[in-house]
Amino acid sequence: MMVGPTHAPMRMCVGCRLRAPASELIRFVAGGDLRLLPDPSRRLPGRGAHLHPDPACFALAERRRAFGRALRLSGVADTGLLAEHIRTVVKPRGTTDDEAPMPRHDPAR
Ligand SMILES: [Zn+2]
Repeated sequence: MMVGPTHAPMRMCVGCRLRAPASELIRFVAGGDLRLLPDPSRRLPGRGAHLHPDPACFALAERRRAFGRALRLSGVADTGLLAEHIRTVVKPRGTTDDEAPMPRHDPAR
């Protein structure tokens, strides 16, 4: 059945637990030492999990230890790298007009 406009695979955000096209989520995997590695190109091997590039989702996932559970880790995940990645991809929702929130469409200038 056709549900969405695209044929994109759906993944669940470990933060808000909503399903979204994989392309809208950040994939991450667990590296050594329980360290979470953001995988923007979705190429890293191993069990991956997905998260919206949204600090709110990150906070939710961290609070309920969803990272470790999603990746079947035996300890508390080190979320430092992932947190940093999210900070770099999320544009602050400022009120200034001179910065586009998302560089999705290229404004002709
Ligand atoms: Zn989310």
